[in-house]
Amino acid sequence: MTQITGEMLIGDAAVRGTAATLHAFDPARGVALEPAFGGGDADEVDYACRLAQAAFDRFRALPLETRACFLETIAECVLALGDALIERAHEETALPLARLVGERARTVGQLRLFAAFVRDGRWLGATLDSAQPDRAPLPRADLRLQKIPLGPVAVFGASNFPLAFSVAGGDTASAFAAGCPVVVKAHPAHLGTSELVGRAIRDAVRVCGLPVGTFSLVLGAGIAIGEALVADPAIRAVGFTGSRAGGLALAGVAARRREPIPVYAEMSSVNPMFVLPHALAARGAAIARGFVESVTLGVGQFCTNPGLVVLPDGPDARAFIDAAVQALAEQGAQTMLTGGIAATYAQQVSARVAASGVRTLAHGIQNDARNAARPALFATTQQTFLADRQLQNEIFGPASLIVTCRDLDEMIALAEHLDGQLTATLHLDEDDTAHARRLLPTLERKAGRIVANGYPTGVEVAHAMVHGGPFPATSDARTTSVGTLAIERFLRPVCYQDLPAALLPDALRDGNPLGIARVVDGTLGTA
Ligand code: NAP
Repeated sequence: MTQITGEMLIGDAAVRGTAATLHAFDPARGVALEPAFGGGDADEVDYACRLAQAAFDRFRALPLETRACFLETIAECVLALGDALIERAHEETALPLARLVGERARTVGQLRLFAAFVRDGRWLGATLDSAQPDRAPLPRADLRLQKIPLGPVAVFGASNFPLAFSVAGGDTASAFAAGCPVVVKAHPAHLGTSELVGRAIRDAVRVCGLPVGTFSLVLGAGIAIGEALVADPAIRAVGFTGSRAGGLALAGVAARRREPIPVYAEMSSVNPMFVLPHALAARGAAIARGFVESVTLGVGQFCTNPGLVVLPDGPDARAFIDAAVQALAEQGAQTMLTGGIAATYAQQVSARVAASGVRTLAHGIQNDARNAARPALFATTQQTFLADRQLQNEIFGPASLIVTCRDLDEMIALAEHLDGQLTATLHLDEDDTAHARRLLPTLERKAGRIVANGYPTGVEVAHAMVHGGPFPATSDARTTSVGTLAIERFLRPVCYQDLPAALLPDALRDGNPLGIARVVDGTLGTA
């Protein structure tokens, strides 16, 4: 069985940091967990980054098949950790065992999806424009384009997905798929889980015979280690999931470097849900119950949690509210991921209770669970919402705000007033189509994913998924952190002009030896 030793994994070595001592914490029992972890410092970060830099050219030059096998081997090694991984993650996060088993399946599925995607080769964007030596008045050169990896990537995992958005999560999988070495900064809320998964990746590096700097895992107390990682000259891009304050702080560090680098930070979103009049009249109570389920799922600790519901006012809205109040009042308080997250939730709920013009509709049931969040539901009018920007702030946890509007124009004005979002949801019937058509252009500008007649929690890992959106949902709305499109964050195009055949990369050689999809003189095919 893989042991947790409390060490960092730097290249091939397990290194005990001496700059600080850290403990993981069980939020449900309120106890520190063994073993103690040795936090590192800037020198260890620098060493991990130098190894990553040294590994980069060798790693990216390996055949695509080797890279795909590496991703599949990580999946196997994560599974080989067995129940010990699930049990440790459960202790560190209080997330239910069944949820963690599901999250492991998602993590492994994500790695395998990227393996298949790497083999497919379309992501290389291979594009060839033939030379036209006889073109008048000037000949055209032979132009061939492919995408290449940016270089070593720093990854900051999320507290709320200790597997799928952490050490071997989507950021790491997409960076490896692109051909980038990865240095992960372990999240302090699940240090043991991070080490176990880090060891699984290191085993995969060994099994596949990859350069040792392909992967490292560092940890430390406070923000210094994360800042040092982002500031390191070897790092070429950053993947982050967490708070807006954290994401912006790291984006600031990246922007102040001598050579600034992109930071792909997924931060905060209230995921508005618009219920249109006919749907509200026909099935308002059912939508309300589904909404409460979505708000309280996983103690509301999802970045896609529906924190805002927008309704046309009237008797149907009141019936929706009654059903939502009844459903929410039956939900008990549950332990959150960390004491800090639970304290922030309690503070934000108290502030909302006290907010002017906001009614507290319901609280869930109080009980003696530690570090727990009690669900909460609030209501206000469109005018109050527009007047108070604070009401747009994400409350990370099982809380939501219902806003009533006098008519569709008020709903559209509210949508216009919103910050950027990961998702926007429409509940609509056929007779709502004209209303939806008016709202849709605004929602397209505001959100990365538009959901119809569903709930935003639950993000499929797929080719067509977008888990991104305009600020503050993310720091860069042009991409996604879930799904195969996430690979684009870690690639850049290079054009080869008149390069001798012997020097061309395989993806761009005559005869298409890789057999991948390419665009040749404007036509897509496998020529
Ligand atoms: P976080 O506090 O932003 O931390 C995420 C990671 O970034 C941690 O490894 C943290 O390290 C590091 N970090 C944060 N600020 C930093 C800074 N200024 N410089 C360097 N490193 C920094 O997020 P969290 O702990 O996961 O959760 C806290 C809050 O984030 C939640 O209450 C919620 O509001 C939000 N959240 C949002 C999402 C989302 O998907 N949008 C997901 C999870 C959480 P250290 O802790 O070691 O400093």
